[in-house]
Amino acid sequence: MNKLAQLDQRYVWHPFTQMRDWLRHEPIVIASGKGAVLRDVKGREYLDANSSIWTNLHGHQHPKINAAITRQLQKIAHSSALGLANEPASLLAAKLVGIANNIYDSRFTIDAPHGRATRKSHIVNRKLAKVFFSDDGSTALEVALKLAYEFTRRTRKPVGRASARAVEPKFLSLAGAYHGDTIGAVSLGHVDLFHKAYGGMLFATDKVMSPYCYRCPFNKAKPERADARNYRKCNWECVGKVEQKFAAQKKKGNPYAGFVFEPLMQGAAGMIPQPSGWLAQVTQIARAHGALLIADEVMTGFGRTGTSSKLEIGNWKSKMLFASQHENVQPDFLCVAKGLTGGYLPMAATLTTQRVFDAFLGEYEEFKTFFHGHSFTGNQLGAAAALASLDLLATKTSVLQRAKLQKHLHDELQTLWALPHVGDIRQVGLVAGVELVKDWRTRAPFALRERAGLRVCAAMARRGVLTRPVGNVIVLMPPYCTTRTQLQKMVAALAAGVKESF
Ligand code: PMP
Repeated sequence: MNKLAQLDQRYVWHPFTQMRDWLRHEPIVIASGKGAVLRDVKGREYLDANSSIWTNLHGHQHPKINAAITRQLQKIAHSSALGLANEPASLLAAKLVGIANNIYDSRFTIDAPHGRATRKSHIVNRKLAKVFFSDDGSTALEVALKLAYEFTRRTRKPVGRASARAVEPKFLSLAGAYHGDTIGAVSLGHVDLFHKAYGGMLFATDKVMSPYCYRCPFNKAKPERADARNYRKCNWECVGKVEQKFAAQKKKGNPYAGFVFEPLMQGAAGMIPQPSGWLAQVTQIARAHGALLIADEVMTGFGRTGTSSKLEIGNWKSKMLFASQHENVQPDFLCVAKGLTGGYLPMAATLTTQRVFDAFLGEYEEFKTFFHGHSFTGNQLGAAAALASLDLLATKTSVLQRAKLQKHLHDELQTLWALPHVGDIRQVGLVAGVELVKDWRTRAPFALRERAGLRVCAAMARRGVLTRPVGNVIVLMPPYCTTRTQLQKMVAALAAGVKESF
């Protein structure tokens, strides 16, 4: 066994990994990467079909990002944001605010409750204006959660006889949601498999049905060889469920403080996409009930959800970098991480409004301060990488590359319908989930112990394609630089892996 593999097995404890399984096989030890290719210490090459757990955007060793980090390194790697500002973090915050507000044109009355036009001043009030940096997706959510909690306590008008501060702000999130592994983020999540063990440590949040059309009990459609969203037969019962949930909570005299969601597609829940219009409808309901909108764009941000299929390349919409923008939804909190630095360094950000920021202003001795922060907040190397990545995203080359990749991904995925073990293929922009089933005609799922997803991914790895499943869903999330030939190889490996495994 390779020496580094030996050291790994002796000393490293891997995330989300059954270490007994891990210790049975020699692990792949990555030595380098270039573009969409990863190379291991034995010189074998692999395609990075999940963008290194959904982080990488432009490919590995991108000359522009490498140069930006190197330039920054010659100045300073890190100084604290506690009491000090720094150059790249200031620039990055300004840039993030700019791109997050792309959409906020007075033509878009995006948060009008139930279709009524909202006064422009409301939109201005909700503009994302401030950036709080942290390190990872989980911490970005943790920040949003704490800010929303305390903002609500400080600003909520008393309902009935209850004192506003006596009522605990409550949050609503989606069934199957995953928002990270810190205790606050876990509390917002609803993946029993991950979260059950820690139940005693968590605070209570409510969950509401998410629109999982393929397995929706309200979808009367028989299985077809198409994305379930496109042939569903329902009456938007999932939206009705959200409405009911908000109404019931209001009746209790403690309306939800916040609604937490992944826009357009829930990632770790199983690459579960939302039918067009769902997000706009449910966020309008949330707004109408006075809830803050907390958008988790850790997976969906920075162009991952692609361009709208109805729009031509070059149209302003194709430049939208956040999933919320596809449905004109303006959140009060926008949480980003993973792709923020192009997938180079651990850095995250929580963007919020002036209104929220102002609720934390006060005299020193009033202690209205947001007492929260991390040692590496606003790290210069991360910020320099992020600035370079955002510049790349704004280039015509990148916009065209992404539009092409989205189309090629769509075309290549169609070949998989020929496989009887493929039940649903769910693509949103530049990410796809392929749900494996025992039989597509019945949608019968594989039992957990069959490890269907893991087996297919292992077979793909033997063919030089790396990705990780979410249960029985195979994820394809290529870096934006992936060529058509590379994409064909990814999809072919998936097909071969399915054929070999069942
Ligand atoms: N939110 C979403 C939507 C995610 O996909 C993830 C990570 N998979 C997280 C939050 C947590 O991010 P991190 O692993 O960087 O803490």
